[in-house]
Amino acid sequence: MAIYHAPREEITPFTGNKDADRLLNDLSDHPHAFVLACIMDRQVKAERAWMVPFHLREKLQDFSMTRLAALSRDDIFRLMAEPAPLHRFVDKMAGFFFSGIQRIATQYGSNASLMWADRPSSAMVVYRFLEFDGVGPKIANMAANILARHFKVEFSDYYSIDISADIQVRRVFGRLGLTPLDASVEQLVYRARSLHPEFPGLLDLPSWEIGRKWCRPRAKECRACYMQRLCPTAAGEA
Ligand code: SF4
Repeated sequence: MAIYHAPREEITPFTGNKDADRLLNDLSDHPHAFVLACIMDRQVKAERAWMVPFHLREKLQDFSMTRLAALSRDDIFRLMAEPAPLHRFVDKMAGFFFSGIQRIATQYGSNASLMWADRPSSAMVVYRFLEFDGVGPKIANMAANILARHFKVEFSDYYSIDISADIQVRRVFGRLGLTPLDASVEQLVYRARSLHPEFPGLLDLPSWEIGRKWCRPRAKECRACYMQRLCPTAAGEA
């Protein structure tokens, strides 16, 4: 069974806060929470960015699209800025949050789950995320990847979901000898496509986990890493 067809975990952790994670996992009643969290995921630690919808719900006591669509950009700025900033770049992100809400309201009739309803192609899902202000290929692919891999949303194909080439993925691909250590984003993306054309983005999570758990920038723990027997960097160190 392909990993993305495996049963869905009860709840996918994003933040370390169970209530916040429950909101982000609630694709039935609050699919916009997931989309808006993805939009916030830039230039700060992911855990902090993904907390933004939850903090706003706490402040508003309501995270329905009806309530959100009634907020002005200034309202959102104030909610994000006071008393403590919810993001490193509150002004810019308040604008993206506001325009994200407006897009979901006008384009999808306030139901963000229509972005991925009815088995769309993976390219269409990535494209729909790219249509939001502030979302580039890295976030759009990450969002589609999470929908497919964790939330088990069915697409008609998965081949347009690329890896999100972050620093961990670059280091692990480089040490495994898959790409040069200083590979460009394009090199990483195309290497992943060549390795797993059916769903290139599937290589994202294991690479990221290896990078975070064992293949750290300085103190590598090759003995614990399950790639040790195949890894040219580990072999060179033995
Ligand atoms: S075996 Fe060592 S160098 Fe290779 S991927 Fe694992 S931790 Fe990194």
